[in-house]
Amino acid sequence: MKKLVIASGNAGKLREIAHLLQPLNIEVLSQSHFNVPEAEEPYVTFIENALAKARHASEHTGLPALADDSGICVDALNGAPGVFSARFAGEPKSDARNNEKLLQELNGKNNRQAHYYCVIVLVRHANDPQPIIVEGIWQGEILTVPQGDGGFGYDPLFLDDKTGKAAAELAPEIKNRISHRGQAMSKLLQKLEHLD
Ligand code: IMP
Repeated sequence: MKKLVIASGNAGKLREIAHLLQPLNIEVLSQSHFNVPEAEEPYVTFIENALAKARHASEHTGLPALADDSGICVDALNGAPGVFSARFAGEPKSDARNNEKLLQELNGKNNRQAHYYCVIVLVRHANDPQPIIVEGIWQGEILTVPQGDGGFGYDPLFLDDKTGKAAAELAPEIKNRISHRGQAMSKLLQKLEHLD
């Protein structure tokens, strides 16, 4: 069975990835299992940060490694909060303060278009010149008042264009299927299935 290190300590994410890769006979291990120290994420693009995390985990473990990076990008804010989504309103990170700040910044703006973005990177070894890269984009707009109590992060303010519901109003299985992360994950599975 092939081993793959996931450059994240998030138990939910690990479970989701392990479940997805089960049919491919890939054993998924958390980087915390190897005491990998936290990687720096100094970049302004998602792809650079994901690549830095995957390479860091592979360097420390000598195994193939996978990392993801995600966030929300708002058109009228030139793509902000982008890679700073988790800490948009500063430390300590708070979903409630992030959402408040987003509403304030969009106050009086007509264009409320936004999208969630997720990139997943898999390096076969630390110096892999050709990492596997997949991305997912979930298009929507920013509501003026929060709706729903599911999900996390910006979900109460994110209106899904297709269903006309806030992300926080969607059942988890629906969100997981249509979301930026869900789209990236299914593309990853397709790519890995066609790899020898
Ligand atoms: P991470 O890449 O999973 O660490 O996510 C970075 C940040 O982007 C989160 O802390 C959230 O603020 C935001 N974000 C990413 N994906 C979602 C989502 O599906 N719903 C709500 N917020 C999200």
